[in-house]
Amino acid sequence: MQSCTVVGAGLAGLIAARTLEEAGVRVTVFEKEEKVGGRMRTDAVQDGVFDHGAQFFTIRSDRFEEIARTWISAGVVEEWTRGFADSSGEQREDGHPRYRGTQGMTAIAEHLVSGLDVRTGAEVSGLYRDEQGWQVFAGDSSTHRSDALVLTPPSSLKLVDESGLSLTPGTRSALENIAYDPCIAVMVIPGGSGAVPEPGGVQIGGDPLFWVADNLQKGISDVPAVTIHAGPEWSREHLHSDDEAISRLLLEEAKDYVGTNIETTAVYRWRYSQPVGIHEERFVYIEGPPPLVFCGDAYGGPKVEGAVLSGLAAAEKLLQRAGV
Ligand SMILES: Cc1cc2nc3c(=O)[nH]c(=O)nc-3n(C[C@H](O)[C@H](O)[C@H](O)COP(=O)(O)OP(=O)(O)OC[C@H]3O[C@@H](n4cnc5c(N)ncnc54)[C@H](O)[C@@H]3O)c2cc1C
Repeated sequence: MQSCTVVGAGLAGLIAARTLEEAGVRVTVFEKEEKVGGRMRTDAVQDGVFDHGAQFFTIRSDRFEEIARTWISAGVVEEWTRGFADSSGEQREDGHPRYRGTQGMTAIAEHLVSGLDVRTGAEVSGLYRDEQGWQVFAGDSSTHRSDALVLTPPSSLKLVDESGLSLTPGTRSALENIAYDPCIAVMVIPGGSGAVPEPGGVQIGGDPLFWVADNLQKGISDVPAVTIHAGPEWSREHLHSDDEAISRLLLEEAKDYVGTNIETTAVYRWRYSQPVGIHEERFVYIEGPPPLVFCGDAYGGPKVEGAVLSGLAAAEKLLQRAGV
């Protein structure tokens, strides 16, 4: 295996790409968005800066700890807190560190990009395979060839089906069992300072409100900038509601945290937020030639840690099968 294409520049894709590149494989990453990070997403709205996808991460395994330590040493990650307030305002310290990106969560992905060939604004729209390898149709309808392919998007099965690729019944059923909850995020610039309790997050864990965070207290925004996440049921119900209705309903629910004097709101719909059906292995591997691996946070374990460990395991599997 001399070359590999990775679809998706979220954490799974970037870790897979780095691991392959470090082993001497020529890697190209295609990302449909204009920036890297996927669900690690930091955006500016007026003067406010918002993490509105993943809010923080925890470390459970030694393998991930080793990787996260390199991010901390590089200054892109630091501990945020060891617990948040709940909806009653009570602080829930449990001794487990929660980590944040010092400049927001996207900055962790930007740190991983260095030295990699990553093409943003390049949506992969078709896949073709023959004995010689993979052809990927991306962005400006250019064709890219490689010996191996890594698919990380939550919608990978759709892409495979639209490309007319056949899968064995076992693989298809494994991929069909993966499902995601949606999450509607509202980014709010309150007229006042907001009233999110220290250290800047409230873990409500329900519907319609799931989570509220103050990005000023978090240390990534210079002005009050509050992220509201709706719960999965409410998000599913309101996925097609208009922005004005979504903002109005969630601001009413969150008025204890944001006040009633609001300067600006912006809505973002996460169609794929957190996986609810998880494949038990860290990847699904399809033997070549040419080989194909599916990976991401729905394989072997969810969240930031799950995505990283899945991307790593997928790359290691490809290297092992190629005898590298
Ligand atoms: C609202 C929200 C809150 C969350 N909160 C937390 C949290 O607090 N803690 C935690 O640990 N985790 C949290 N998560 C989950 C965490 O963000 C994910 O588990 C992790 O970022 C997933 O990484 P990934 O690489 O598997 O997938 P993704 O980040 O989704 O990466 C897939 C990439 O593929 C790209 N892509 C899709 N289709 C194509 C295509 N056709 N061509 C090219 N590119 C394509 C996408 O744009 C994306 O960049 C949260 C997620 C959301 C949405």
